[in-house]
Amino acid sequence: MLDMIEMALPIISRAILGELLMTKEARTRQKIYDDLASDDQFSSSLLVLKEHLPSGNACMRINIDATRVGNVARFINHSCDGGNLSTKLVRNSGALLPRLCFFASRDTQEDEELTFSYGDIRLRPKGLKCFCSSSCYGILPSENT
Ligand SMILES: [Zn+2]
Repeated sequence: MLDMIEMALPIISRAILGELLMTKEARTRQKIYDDLASDDQFSSSLLVLKEHLPSGNACMRINIDATRVGNVARFINHSCDGGNLSTKLVRNSGALLPRLCFFASRDTQEDEELTFSYGDIRLRPKGLKCFCSSSCYGILPSENT
């Protein structure tokens, strides 16, 4: 019986599924989600991935909205201490879009919640509340989309 996930084992090898959005639509939806979340009764899963190209002069932006449609990865919560998962963009040969894959960043017990850091920047001082059990900042990371 597997009772521990060993470090560096891919946890979820499938990409986060959701709607692929143009940046303008992602920004519009983020404003709507921010308004809906003001009463703490709504939670969105809008993820912005930025892949820096090897030259360092450009960045590819991918907007994935798994709020209405998505796979199990959209339920992985944030942890202010970085959690037990790390993320890595992985690109299959010839694929236009990379996949966001999760890897164990440390040994994880069978009944331990899987979490990762949504980011370090908190632009909204009255942002969404964080309920992680680590040394918590009290609000979730947020950036301007
Ligand atoms: Zn927290």
